[in-house]
Amino acid sequence: MIIVMKADVGEGSAEIPRIIERAHSFPGITTQVHRIQGQTRGLTEIYLLGATGVVPAEVFEEFESVEKVVRVTQKFRAIGRHDALEAASFEYRGVRIAQDTLHVFPGLCAVDTREHQDLTFAALQRAGIKTARAGAYKPRTSPYDFQGLGQACLPWLFESAGKHGIQIVTMEVTHESHIDEIKRARAQSGDATGVMLQIGTRNAQNFELLKAVGQQTELPVLFKRGMGISLEESLNACEYVASGGNRRIVFCLRGVKSHLGEPHRNFVDFAHVSVVQRLTRLPVCVDPSHSVGRRISGADGLLDIFHVTAQGIVTGANMVLVDVHPRPDKALCDGPQALLLEELPGFLEDVAITREAYQKRVAAARART
Ligand code: PEP
Ligand code: MN
Repeated sequence: MIIVMKADVGEGSAEIPRIIERAHSFPGITTQVHRIQGQTRGLTEIYLLGATGVVPAEVFEEFESVEKVVRVTQKFRAIGRHDALEAASFEYRGVRIAQDTLHVFPGLCAVDTREHQDLTFAALQRAGIKTARAGAYKPRTSPYDFQGLGQACLPWLFESAGKHGIQIVTMEVTHESHIDEIKRARAQSGDATGVMLQIGTRNAQNFELLKAVGQQTELPVLFKRGMGISLEESLNACEYVASGGNRRIVFCLRGVKSHLGEPHRNFVDFAHVSVVQRLTRLPVCVDPSHSVGRRISGADGLLDIFHVTAQGIVTGANMVLVDVHPRPDKALCDGPQALLLEELPGFLEDVAITREAYQKRVAAARART
């Protein structure tokens, strides 16, 4: 059960301890107070945990400061909308991420050399982009493939990001120890940039790792859906992150494993953007690079990666993760799917065209009702 307080009721309100005391009068009920950033306002919410089925909502609805009482199902308790809650948003390093914003995070799939990193961040800066991807810890299918430079690259990676005005870098972690390595290197860099911890598709059900990123609140989390599990299973896994206390989460679609998607690397699942936005309070990211897996062009001259990105954006995606590389033929991971740095401005132009189309669609739908 979630008790949503009225908009002007802050965490310091005198009614909150009274509501909590009332909640605790029911056997086995415990409470958590969360301050959530909604789309347009800050919200204080009191979560009742335990056997809330027998707790009557009216008891709390009578309080002057309560806006509404929402019964939640067992599923997605913390990330779910439960047909009644508004979307959540968060601001990190001056970047607001929400179900009504859009940010592009281009970058290296795997950081390989300092020169390639500098060239990439410089290209982003020229394009006016402050958000990037950069993989230092790479989960690879074969143990003989490049596993990433690990913590060794973090000092110069963060320094380069800071130098080029990059505010957030999404970076996959494959082991709990990587979280502390990143935090330490970031602190040593003088807080040069922000980091969003990425959970890769292969670790979507690594529950101990999910708990570890969820129990820290310093860094937001980008959770990628599992490639071979249902959407519901992925949402349940993502709930592990939120239930640990970290509510700054973005849910990422990256295609699912099926030969039915061939010749693309994965079957593109961006029809789920609106589904995830409806079922959860989370902003939704799409990763066209790992979905398509190849830098190939359509008959119309647009790359498949552009087309697939457009599919995500035209349906309301809030974030795009896209691989770029200054020399894809030299890349140590996923070179064949990387866009060239020269293609970035065109990609961003295409993104802007599609975002405008999405906004027009929403405005037209509102005008019809
Ligand atoms: C990645 O984004 O670098 C990556 C490995 O993606 P995924 O986990 O979706 O395969
Ligand atoms: Mn990759």
